[in-house]
Amino acid sequence: MTDSVTATAKTEVSTDANKTEEKVNLLGLSQAKLEAFFESIGEKKFRATQVLKWIHQMGVDDFDNMTNISKALREKLKRIAEVRPPEVIQQLDSADGTRKFLIKVTGGSAVETVLIPDGERGTLCVSSQVGCSLDCSFCSTGKQGFNRDLTAAEIIGQVWLAAKSYGQFGEDRPRIITNVVMMGMGEPLLNFDNVVDSMNLMMHDNCYGLSKRRVTLSTSGVVPALDRLGQYTDACLAVSLHAPNDELRNELVPINKKYPIAMLLDSAKRYIDGLPDNRRKMTIEYTLINQVNDRPHHAHELVQLLKEIPVKINLIPFNPFDQSDYRRVSNNALRTFQDILIKAGFTTTVRTTRGDDIDAACGQLAGAVNDRTKRSERYRNQQALAAEEAVRIVNQ
Ligand code: SAH
Ligand code: SF4
Repeated sequence: MTDSVTATAKTEVSTDANKTEEKVNLLGLSQAKLEAFFESIGEKKFRATQVLKWIHQMGVDDFDNMTNISKALREKLKRIAEVRPPEVIQQLDSADGTRKFLIKVTGGSAVETVLIPDGERGTLCVSSQVGCSLDCSFCSTGKQGFNRDLTAAEIIGQVWLAAKSYGQFGEDRPRIITNVVMMGMGEPLLNFDNVVDSMNLMMHDNCYGLSKRRVTLSTSGVVPALDRLGQYTDACLAVSLHAPNDELRNELVPINKKYPIAMLLDSAKRYIDGLPDNRRKMTIEYTLINQVNDRPHHAHELVQLLKEIPVKINLIPFNPFDQSDYRRVSNNALRTFQDILIKAGFTTTVRTTRGDDIDAACGQLAGAVNDRTKRSERYRNQQALAAEEAVRIVNQ
């Protein structure tokens, strides 16, 4: 883990033409890093708690409004630091309440964040990288390739922006964002420090105070990073499995060649077993692709694979896109597959679709900005929809 303020600050170069010096963006700093920052400027550590609350509980990004901090310190902060959320390029609202943000990130790229309301629950789907290097055969983010990691300020900034847009900041305000899933663009475990710091801010009592049962990291299986995860956080875990054996998974999720299923499930199990409360199950995500991994024998093999592990299973019908020859699972095959799992005793859910009228799914608008060809937009729409569906399922 990087534990220096400067490491984070260096990635946060101000783009404001009026500012001549590089300022430290306090938005993405963990409590420990914020304490180190205040100590480094000769201030007491408790300032970190005050500032954390201003930023993440009150939604304040102007030091002048941090009224329990002396004028002298506020002036000093204004010279050397800033609270700079990423910029929202576009916000779209669906008739069903789904809200989507297209977020500009430094370097001219864009990522997406989607808030999916469902009764009392509001689930925010957050991105961790611009693109993804892992190239899963059914995923359009993977097909875009990898651009770069998001900074911690850009990751927690997605939560900050969404909370702001719903007027959630301040005392006694209704909480709209109740759940966060790291299921937008990117592989969260390949951006370990920034993702961990951001998830911990989401769960921190002085920040968003989300329950550890309501913040979920989804991974395709970067085992060495998963092995370390439990030392740094106790959020929920979703494993993108998609196949019941290594031969098939090697095809769908290439990182499986490096870290095969047994290794991945062992590591995931150790993570779940190490959580302070032992009642949590990991979520298994399984994207169903016609004639590829959706046959009854695949379901039976999955039952055997998972029978000793406390899991709930989310089935995600594959969303086809132009650059892919895969097809969506048929309704019959889906029902049969689900029945086999349910009969074997697994809690098994299937996705539902939301936000159709605004194409509310991760990837789509970002795609439209980066590449305006119709073909490319359609391609990314499919992946975006898939990720949004996966988010919903994890929370069912
Ligand atoms: N990289 C992480 C998290 C982001 S992907 C991971 O792989 O877990 C989020 C989810 O979107 C994954 O579970 C993936 O299976 C799903 N997904 C991506 N493209 C899809 C598609 N075309 N159809 C169905 N699900 C898809
Ligand atoms: Fe990356 Fe996840 Fe897509 Fe695989 S499914 S390419 S890990 S974003």
